[in-house]
Amino acid sequence: MDVVVIGAGISGLLSAYWLSRNKHVSSLIVFEKRPLNAIPRKHCSGVISRDTMLRIPYAVKFIENSYNRLKVYVAENLEVELIFDKNAIYKIDRVAHEKLLLEVVKERGVEIMLNTNVVDVEKVKNKYRVRGFNVRGGEFDQVIVAEGYPPNLSRKLNLESRFNTFKGIQQEAYLSRKLDCDSVEVLYVYIGRNTKGFAWLIPVNERRLIVGVASKDNVFGELSLVKRFFEKKLNIEMTKMKDLYGGIVLRGYPKKLLRGSILGIGDAVAMVKSLSGGGLYPISVTSTVYGENLHKPEVLNRKTKSIARELMKQYKLYELITRGLKLPRSILLFSNITAYIGDSYFYDHHEKILAKAFTTIKFG
Ligand SMILES: Cc1cc2nc3c(=O)[nH]c(=O)nc-3n(C[C@H](O)[C@H](O)[C@H](O)COP(=O)(O)OP(=O)(O)OC[C@H]3O[C@@H](n4cnc5c(N)ncnc54)[C@H](O)[C@@H]3O)c2cc1C
Repeated sequence: MDVVVIGAGISGLLSAYWLSRNKHVSSLIVFEKRPLNAIPRKHCSGVISRDTMLRIPYAVKFIENSYNRLKVYVAENLEVELIFDKNAIYKIDRVAHEKLLLEVVKERGVEIMLNTNVVDVEKVKNKYRVRGFNVRGGEFDQVIVAEGYPPNLSRKLNLESRFNTFKGIQQEAYLSRKLDCDSVEVLYVYIGRNTKGFAWLIPVNERRLIVGVASKDNVFGELSLVKRFFEKKLNIEMTKMKDLYGGIVLRGYPKKLLRGSILGIGDAVAMVKSLSGGGLYPISVTSTVYGENLHKPEVLNRKTKSIARELMKQYKLYELITRGLKLPRSILLFSNITAYIGDSYFYDHHEKILAKAFTTIKFG
């Protein structure tokens, strides 16, 4: 099989990595519209579960911190703390990891064509022809669309998804006073009742953290509010701020991941777990499914449907919970909730986290 991957973000690189191990793939080429100095793009926090980290090749080499607790502040009056058995959530250096992955993929014989902007994919008999700026190469049996957001090609090729977008920005902060050791092992999330999004604080070490916000509008205004909120809560002062970066944060789910021999992956098809956030869990699962089963259409069909169904369920749950947060304050009776969650698997599976939380919950 001759395979083309469109996009060399994490979705494209992981797909190429796993496909390069499939002996049914005779040629593999990746088209990326950006030049070398513009990839990898710094935009993501790199927070993933332990299970996801172990599924992503070489991710363990780039661990910056890990967490055994997740603390969620819901507006001013509700604090929910989820406690895991051991460190279940990891922060990895996404840029350094993707740089290495790019090199590994090249070493495995995959051709990476940079400065190559794909504009269309046409079906010619039972093959696909790729058109665009700088594109060369012949015809392909399989096409993987990993273009990220916005999903221009995905839409054209009828890969369907449903999603909402938020503008996400984050910044690194240095502290005048050390965070206490305990707090370094906690991942913090803030959901304001009046803000149109959510925010996070990720301790990297005692002196450095990342603070970010995803919102429908005025992200910069919201970021300063959120900074103040966390400073008060954790009794810290964020002094030197560095490196403002971000991108579009998605909440949604894919509806149709496969059209003939065209397959979508990643932000291109809104592949995201909506509640605890993140694209890397579904991307890591899907890229291995594509790598192992590209030559087995029936298995691909079944597995892509099951991934889409799971992400849809997670999104519905996210909608239900965010709607619940808009209820009058008096209905949220408890000011502190603690739940013992068990292992890392639950961080990626919201419906199971809730079931587990209900059996171990303690109200304060
Ligand atoms: C602020 C922020 C924080 C986040 N934090 C987390 C987190 O903590 N954990 C987590 O799991 N996820 C997180 N995410 C989400 C995660 O970063 C994304 O889901 C993931 O990076 C998407 O990867 P991708 O490869 O699908 O898309 P991208 O990284 O966007 O890659 C797509 C690539 O395709 C190329 N391309 C586009 N169009 C074409 C074309 N026509 N021809 C050729 N090339 C093309 C682009 O140049 C790009 O290189 C975060 C996102 C944001 C914005």
